[in-house]
Amino acid sequence: MILLITGPSGAGKSSFIGELMAADDRLAFSVSTTTRPMRAGEVDGREYDFVDETAFDRLVAESAFVEWATVHDNKYGTRRSRLVEMTDAGKIPILDIDVQGGIQVLDQFGPELVSVFLFPPSWDELERRLTSRGTDDIEVITKRLRTARGEVDFAPKYSYWIVNNDLGAAVERMRAVIAAEECRSIILGTPPLESDDPA
Ligand code: 5GP
Repeated sequence: MILLITGPSGAGKSSFIGELMAADDRLAFSVSTTTRPMRAGEVDGREYDFVDETAFDRLVAESAFVEWATVHDNKYGTRRSRLVEMTDAGKIPILDIDVQGGIQVLDQFGPELVSVFLFPPSWDELERRLTSRGTDDIEVITKRLRTARGEVDFAPKYSYWIVNNDLGAAVERMRAVIAAEECRSIILGTPPLESDDPA
């Protein structure tokens, strides 16, 4: 199983994913590669693999990415090798990627991909959250709100919708989604019975 989680900036994706991972040690965060400058407190290889444009373009040319996109003027991509490492280790990868990347991933994977769109409670609340961060000027906030409206247009492509009005409740819903997905016959493949013939 691979979890694809998309939601507009301000929907609370980072806290949501953080709580989710704290509750289930089978989940592993898929570390993307980006050209965005490292922020204070970030560690290379933990939040992202930070590279320059040349290195990123080389990876694109080598088809190293499952998907990649330009988000807020920086490039971001999911490296195939990162995903393979996680699934080989028996982990369930969590992809925190934008809609442009999400659509590329949705086109490539089958029922093993569980897609979730995380909504903020309302547009007003999204604006309030983006403003209260205090890190961005009004132009950046306006741009993020415009991007968010465009992203929500793609939400129907995702299998599950979760509204993040209460973090704990949203995480519980997500855990229920994971539990349900794990019971799907198409995921299990063969009936979960002993091999002895009952006859
Ligand atoms: P930030 O720079 O704030 O960490 O992330 C900005 C946006 O880039 C977020 O919406 C995040 O989901 C998206 N993003 C992060 N990694 C990837 C990736 O590998 N591919 C794509 N398409 N988007 C990503």
